[in-house]
Amino acid sequence: QNVPELTLNDGLKVPAIGLGTYSLKGEEGVKAMAAAMDAGYRLIDTAFNYENEGAVGKAIKRSSVAREELLICSKLPGRRHAYKEALVTIEESLYRADLDYYDLYLIHWPNPKQDVYVEAWQAMIEAKKRGYIRSIGVSNFLPEHIDRLIKETGAAPSLNQVELHPFFDQAYQRKKDAEHGIVTESWSPLGRGNDIVQDEQIVRIAEAHGKTGAQVILRWHTQLGAIPIPKSGSLQHQKENLDIFDFELTAEEMDVISSFSREDGRLWGQDPSTYEE
Ligand code: NAD
Repeated sequence: QNVPELTLNDGLKVPAIGLGTYSLKGEEGVKAMAAAMDAGYRLIDTAFNYENEGAVGKAIKRSSVAREELLICSKLPGRRHAYKEALVTIEESLYRADLDYYDLYLIHWPNPKQDVYVEAWQAMIEAKKRGYIRSIGVSNFLPEHIDRLIKETGAAPSLNQVELHPFFDQAYQRKKDAEHGIVTESWSPLGRGNDIVQDEQIVRIAEAHGKTGAQVILRWHTQLGAIPIPKSGSLQHQKENLDIFDFELTAEEMDVISSFSREDGRLWGQDPSTYEE
C-alpha cells in the first residue's frame, strides 16, 4: 500500500493513517496486529490504559516489519500526571512493550479538574530528552489546554488525538491545532463502526468511486488533513481501510460528509473540559 506521510512540527514523518488497537489484546490481538503490520500499517496506536502494550510489542516481533519502520504511539493515563510518576509510567510503558523507545507518546486526557497536566507535559519533555520518546503530543486537549502548555513550557505538542468522525468534524479544534502546527489525529474515525458507514448518502458517494462507506469516510479524514486510526481485528477490514489513496472526494462530497456534524456531536459525551479519565 502506498500510504503518504505527514511531517510533524518536530520533523517526525508519520503515515496518513494508523491502526487503532483498543480492545485488541491477548493472543488474538497479537495475531490481528501482526497481520495489520504485514498488510502495510506502520502507525500503531496503543495506550497504557488499554492494557495491550505487551501485545503490541509481541506483534512487532512476530510481524515481518522491522521495528525502525514502525511508529508506535502510547499514552499516559490521567492518574499518572505528577512529574515523577509520569516518568516512571513511561518507563513501565516501554518495559511492557519491550521497546527502547516510543515514536509518539501522548497525554491521554487533560483531566482539568485534577489540573496536573502541565506537570505531565514537563515530564514528557524530559522523557523526550532521555530518548524514551521521539515525539510528544496530547490527546483530547481543547485549545485552552494547549495554549496553557505552550505558555507555561514554551513547547507545543506535535499532535493532538481527538474524537473526530462525520458527526463531529471538530472544525474549530482542527483550526486551532493547525495554528500551532499541530497535526490532528482522529479517534473513533468511523464512529466506532456506527451505522454511518451504511448511510444512504455515504453509500451513494462510495458507489460513485467504487469504494465502501468506510473508505469514503476515512478518505474524508485525510482530505481534512487529519490522521484516522480505525480499529479492526479483521484483515479484510484492515486492508479495506488502508486502500484509500487512489481516489479523491470532490468539494461537494466532502461537504455532504461534513454535513452530518453537530456543534456537540460527541457520540459518548466525553467532553474534555469535564471528563476525568
Ligand atoms: P472506530 O471508529 O475505529 O471503529 C471501530 C469499529 O468499526 C470496530 O467495531 C470495527 O469492527 C468496525 N470497522 C472497522 N473497519 C470497518 C470497515 N471497513 N467496515 C465496517 N466496519 C468497520 O472506533 P474506535 O476503536 O473507538 O477508535 C479507533 C481507535 O482510536 C481506538 O482503537 C483507539 O486506538 C483510539 N481511541 C482513542 C481514544 C482517546 O481518548 N484518545 C478514545 C477512543 C479510541
